Amino acid sequence: MNILGQQNIHKELEKLQHQLRLFYEISNAMRSTLKLDEILYIILTAITAHSGLGLNRAILFLVNQGQNTLEGALGIGPDSGEKAHKIWHYIENNRLDLNALIQQYKHSKKISDSRLNQIVKNFKISISPENGILAQAVIDGEIKHIIHTKPEDYISDPIIHELKTEEFVVLPLKAHDKVVGVILADNIFNRKPITDEDIKMLTMFANQAGLAIENSMLYEQALLRAHTDSLTQLWNHGYFQYSLEEMLSTAKAGERPLSLLLIDIDNFKQYNDQYGHQKGDEILRSISYILREQSRKMDLVCRYGGEEFAIILPDTNRQDAGHIAERLRDAVEKANLPTLSIGVASYPEDAKDKQELIELADGALYKAKRLGKNQVQFVE
Ligand code: GH3
Ligand code: MG
Ligand code: MG
Repeated sequence: MNILGQQNIHKELEKLQHQLRLFYEISNAMRSTLKLDEILYIILTAITAHSGLGLNRAILFLVNQGQNTLEGALGIGPDSGEKAHKIWHYIENNRLDLNALIQQYKHSKKISDSRLNQIVKNFKISISPENGILAQAVIDGEIKHIIHTKPEDYISDPIIHELKTEEFVVLPLKAHDKVVGVILADNIFNRKPITDEDIKMLTMFANQAGLAIENSMLYEQALLRAHTDSLTQLWNHGYFQYSLEEMLSTAKAGERPLSLLLIDIDNFKQYNDQYGHQKGDEILRSISYILREQSRKMDLVCRYGGEEFAIILPDTNRQDAGHIAERLRDAVEKANLPTLSIGVASYPEDAKDKQELIELADGALYKAKRLGKNQVQFVE
């Protein structure tokens, strides 16, 4: 073999070695977490990092099996070419490898407010062939490499139209032959053509990424089940305790108020005795439904135990908590269900820590019972 041939082989081997190291690094990173948002970030970092597959910009969409829709999840890539060069220089000067980039994310989580992400978060289409190339990729499961295209060609593909790109790839992510997501990636800033080698690497990467997404989704579903009360579908006692601790630290750190409602159904034993336990369960479900419907999105509605509920109201002082409690009590009474007694306690007005908050709310609840039930009471 001549020298030139040997040099070529040497180059090929070096490339293979680099690819192998890259896949090893990516799979290690993916094994380090089961949290979906972190997995998605790792996948997109692997695609966009200079030390990774090196594309300029990548957006990940997730398939919602229940609704048969494709939804934007996360986009990575600088908003402008100027910004892109600054970031690449930063990465190079600081010798940031894949692992360092991922660690940075875990500590900051700032990328989600970029302009790109605003567009991505609002994207949702149903998965049918006439809905454009992203939906088609979910249906046929095949990678697509588009070149020399103009934004006008993609009027019906709102996100591709918005990205104003001439060359891009659409990469379906599969787990066990099922498409769980799609990545859209391009080289908008340096205009480097996407090569057959890139396509080969992306295809190999897609299976690894698809499996990691599926695992993480299964994990998050299991977590959700473990934190949910099966009768009422409210958060259970364990999750209540955990969340109160967390939300109270957030309130303290931000110097914001927080209130707690403890709620007990009036004369429920009598109701059970009269109509039977099954009817009692139905009542519990109806009341739970009203509590959730009448609460704000940010409030955490929990089944505390038996026929008792707890609602954590972040960023809410004693007076506002009183209004919310009264609205809940009134809604249940109007629905001709057994009435509620409610105790209110607030941080920092009444209590300084979690234990005190629960004890004081409980005391207020007993005061409501003592004073005749079907009412809201506060800490003395
Ligand atoms: P008070 O107004 O003082 O709260 O009276 P009460 O009858 O509601 O209070 P008590 O604590 O004496 O009784 C609560 C009852 O709630 C006892 C129990 O049979 C019933 N209960 C607790 N959990 C469940 C449940 O999951 N399903 C049903 N059907 N009943 C439950
Ligand atoms: Mg009770
Ligand atoms: Mg009761």
